[in-house]
Amino acid sequence: MRAFVLHGAKDLKLEQRPVPVAGPGEVLLKLRAAGICGSDVHYYTHGRCGNFVPTRPFILGHEFSGEVVQLGDRVNGLAVGQAVAVDPSRPCSRCKLCRSGRYNLCPQMVYFGSASVIPPSEGCFSDYVLVPAGNCAPLPDGFKYSWGALLEPLSVAAHAIHRSGGVAGKRVLITGGGTIGQMILKVALTYGASCVVVSDPMPHAREFALKSGAIGVLDPMADTMPAEATNWAPGGFDTAFEAAGAAVAANQAIQLAATGGTIVQVGTLEDGVALPMNRLLTKELQYVASWRFANVFQEVIQLVSSGRLNVEPLITRIYPFEKLNEAFIQASSGNGVLKVQISN
Ligand SMILES: [Zn+2]
Ligand SMILES: [Zn+2]
Repeated sequence: MRAFVLHGAKDLKLEQRPVPVAGPGEVLLKLRAAGICGSDVHYYTHGRCGNFVPTRPFILGHEFSGEVVQLGDRVNGLAVGQAVAVDPSRPCSRCKLCRSGRYNLCPQMVYFGSASVIPPSEGCFSDYVLVPAGNCAPLPDGFKYSWGALLEPLSVAAHAIHRSGGVAGKRVLITGGGTIGQMILKVALTYGASCVVVSDPMPHAREFALKSGAIGVLDPMADTMPAEATNWAPGGFDTAFEAAGAAVAANQAIQLAATGGTIVQVGTLEDGVALPMNRLLTKELQYVASWRFANVFQEVIQLVSSGRLNVEPLITRIYPFEKLNEAFIQASSGNGVLKVQISN
């Protein structure tokens, strides 16, 4: 089979690998659609992702859907020919966090296509992918493979909404209009936020947010930003999602949150960011974190299949499998790009 193997920064080679065989509890999928995540772009651009440095060449990719082509022993509830999306989290299932349902925090977590473990785990950018049966979520009829490959980042957005305690009737601020910020916008509106305002320095991100239903947009670099924000939410926002992973954005979220409000940190910040902790204290804000996701994959499938969440506009472009290098170049250009996918 064909597999794209990352050998180092900007060095993604199309190689031949043997087709894997499904063992007990596993299924073999023919890859149908896969998305490029921000973390994939980091590996592609820098050869590493933050502290995660691959110890050998590996296959990237963790946002994917496919068709079941082979079942291992002791696999129930799945059939050859079935369309599935894959939840890429493989926690230990035994530790205290796993048993309490917070498996996204499992210290033994293995994600697909990640150098968080040594050696790195293989990802999905290959013709066939071996997946534990329990990670496969069957897709309803009419559910496109490309939507299936969006379920992982959509789950990150839905988890962030749940971590906030819910957004129904709330005035919501989202700092950062990248892929996750835009997905939080869509999910927040679906879950009944009374209004959503998105802050991003890039005009195309603001434009996209307005098209998706944001009541207003803000430029975090403009001096007028705090004053403009109060037009949309006098007294401040009930809930703010910090999806930029930027110090400026985190500061503004604290500044613009209503007294007694909630801030959810979704974006990855540099260590040592200075925040106005006394504002946080005197406004009695709840500053909560949201890491990956847990227990929302099925819920997101429902949101999409019921038509309540239209995800089609989030897909910027779909490349054929063999053009993955071109897809990475577009995904890393940052130029008006939300989600870039490949189809196979
Ligand atoms: Zn991802
Ligand atoms: Zn665990």
